[in-house]
Amino acid sequence: MTLLNVEDLKVTYATDDETIHAVNDVSFSIEEGVNYGLAGESGSGKSTVAEALLGLLPRNGTVESGTLEFNGTDLTSLTDAERRDILWEDIAYIPQSAMDSLDPVMTTGAQIAQAIHTHRNVTDSKARDRVRELFDIVGLDPDRIDEYPHEFSGGMRQRVTIAMALALEPDLIIADEPTTGLDVIVQDKIIDKILEIQERMDSSLLLITHEIGVIAETCDALSILYGGKVMEQGSVDNVLVNPTNPYTMGLKNSFPEIDAEDEDPVAIPGSPPNLNREPTACVFERRCPFATDDCRESHPELIDLPNRNHRSACHRVKEAAQLRRDADEPET
Ligand code: ATP
Ligand code: MG
Repeated sequence: MTLLNVEDLKVTYATDDETIHAVNDVSFSIEEGVNYGLAGESGSGKSTVAEALLGLLPRNGTVESGTLEFNGTDLTSLTDAERRDILWEDIAYIPQSAMDSLDPVMTTGAQIAQAIHTHRNVTDSKARDRVRELFDIVGLDPDRIDEYPHEFSGGMRQRVTIAMALALEPDLIIADEPTTGLDVIVQDKIIDKILEIQERMDSSLLLITHEIGVIAETCDALSILYGGKVMEQGSVDNVLVNPTNPYTMGLKNSFPEIDAEDEDPVAIPGSPPNLNREPTACVFERRCPFATDDCRESHPELIDLPNRNHRSACHRVKEAAQLRRDADEPET
């Protein structure tokens, strides 16, 4: 069954002098029990997709069009109260930089208890027991629930935010960059913890990160975003092992550890596109080593490839294998 369905999502931000087309016709769906990744460089629109889903866009953000369905429920037609209920009961959200947004003057345990009280009619001592249990689940010492955020390390604060998100055992966990800013060992531990919990609660995961290595380790399928567009999409095996899109290839070269070879990372030269108008060329054209005239004329459609569960938006998709070989050839 499809848990989450996003179709043709368009989101804009209004600024003083222009309209930012942050998410442009993004479609993807997550089947029950599947872990799904949303990848792409900074500014590609990842957080905007999550915030649109949850009705948490900043004031200047607008969902212009698109279908957003969770378990068959249209998320765009919910009242604020209904949305809040779904957000806690069914979908857990760990926002980007969540660990830095804990209330500094309230104990960590009290913050989680407050979240529980908002949704459940329970006594203080029941809520406290649940907080101790959640601390234990995320690998924190239950005897520390009366400590303040500043008494915890970054990795521990991130565990607190995970505990808070899990309080009501949701069907879907949306985690936006849950490991960014943590050191590598702590990152691994946090990811392991999220996976362990997600398996235990039998929930699905939407993992948002610019690190495709983390997605390769944890997800079944993914979408690669660039300039608000889905560039490539499908199973992790198809997209990350045999990418057909030059953007994915470039992203892979910036995280070479996926192939477990000792290659140096090569960043994609150039900078992301200006989003102040809808694209009239492929959004990646200016940075793409393979761009031709076609690529300057229109942004390519996302099309189904012959193998199952693989889609790519590239005018040169038919030549992808050759482009990959060209890219692998050493410079002379
Ligand atoms: P990161 O990896 O840095 O978190 P992201 O992929 O999550 O990036 P978004 O935060 O979704 O990207 O931003 C997408 C685009 O929308 C960017 O160009 C960003 O500058 C722009 N944007 C985001 N929020 C706003 C806002 N409130 N007003 C105007 N533009 C915004
Ligand atoms: Mg973001």
